[in-house]
Amino acid sequence: MKRALIVGAGIAGLATALRLTRDGWHATVLERAPALRTGGYVVNLIGLGCDAADRLGLLPALRRHDLGLITTVLVRADGRPKFTVPSAVAEATVGPRALTVFRGDLETVLHEAVREVADVRFGVTTTAVDQDPSRVRAQLSDGTTEEVDLLVGADGLHSATRAALFGDGHRVDLPYAVGAFPLTPPVIGVPERSSVTFIGAGRTAGVMNFGPHRTSAFFAYRTGDPSAELARGPLPALRAAFGDLGGGPAGALSTEPEDVYFDAVSQVVMPRWSDGRVVLIGDAAWCVTLFAGHGAGLAMTGADRLGAALKDHSTVPEALAAWEAGLRPETVKRQAMARRGMRQFAPPSEFHVRLGDLALRAMTLPGIRTLVRRGVERANR
Ligand SMILES: Cc1cc2nc3c(=O)[nH]c(=O)nc-3n(C[C@H](O)[C@H](O)[C@H](O)COP(=O)(O)OP(=O)(O)OC[C@H]3O[C@@H](n4cnc5c(N)ncnc54)[C@H](O)[C@@H]3O)c2cc1C
Repeated sequence: MKRALIVGAGIAGLATALRLTRDGWHATVLERAPALRTGGYVVNLIGLGCDAADRLGLLPALRRHDLGLITTVLVRADGRPKFTVPSAVAEATVGPRALTVFRGDLETVLHEAVREVADVRFGVTTTAVDQDPSRVRAQLSDGTTEEVDLLVGADGLHSATRAALFGDGHRVDLPYAVGAFPLTPPVIGVPERSSVTFIGAGRTAGVMNFGPHRTSAFFAYRTGDPSAELARGPLPALRAAFGDLGGGPAGALSTEPEDVYFDAVSQVVMPRWSDGRVVLIGDAAWCVTLFAGHGAGLAMTGADRLGAALKDHSTVPEALAAWEAGLRPETVKRQAMARRGMRQFAPPSEFHVRLGDLALRAMTLPGIRTLVRRGVERANR
């Protein structure tokens, strides 16, 4: 039986374990965190991501967590409504093959599918890795050693596997910071099945109420010094950047959430994703950022295709090269789309905010919506 060691029990790592064990591999997954990270922002699985979830057999479980699409109320800085965008517009922008789930629910569904078939170890990571043409040897932080046919670095944007085995300097930092957290109870002024969203020059804030215990806040803003923002800490930084707002965002920022996602926005650009029997996958290899809206989908697509390539090729290095050649164009396309999409989350000026408003208003017209839907379907093919 071939053996794989997977570093990181996020979406990419768990999906890889699921696919490889289906193909007869023995998989061990190491997760640095003491337990599954259930906190969450909302992710859309669109097109390829939905197809990968289907091939991995996850669709029935994911459908039970599907939050569906909601109405968006665009608001002014003081919280007064500007106009309402019906859920049909969101439907047009994601296309027909789409699921909306909390990231934590996606990880839970993956973990439930994986835990019976793979060895998932929390609170453990690698401390040293070396390889020869026939094996990879890894020393683990629990004092044990693993000898495997394949080591998969699925340890996210700040991948230690990437730094240790491929060196530093593959992160391209964009001038933005992003924060997101779940909320209980819901925020006053954000009706059920709606999102209250403020889009201003250089920043976006939204509070999404998908129903009881299903509220989530999201903040993205432009900053010349993302590291200084991170050093401030999530809530002080978000309150400084959005403290002047009223309405839903103010309500969200007045709470003391425990589980806040807060990070700089970076892409990962690497000349190669593998070396011998070591491969990177997901954000560790090609982070496209939240501005692309396809990171989770690409992580699952990558995992599914990695399994297929390993099945189709007689040696691991050949399989990894073929897998990368097939997948790289999609990640390059999504990274380019993310760089263009940044303007939607942080328009450069008030003029661009007004242009964005006009575009959203136009999309409430059925004819324009149909054109948008067709464009999205082409992009997600
Ligand atoms: C606000 C926001 C909204 C988003 N919206 C969408 C969306 O709508 N659609 C979409 O498709 N994508 C979206 N994304 C992107 C998506 O969440 C990521 O691309 C995806 O989670 C990447 O998965 P991953 O498994 O590669 O990395 P991660 O999710 O970062 O998982 C990495 C795992 O590795 C673990 N780890 C880290 N270091 C080590 C170590 N040294 N040893 C062991 N374990 C380690 C971590 O604890 C973590 O569990 C969004 C992202 C953000 C921030």
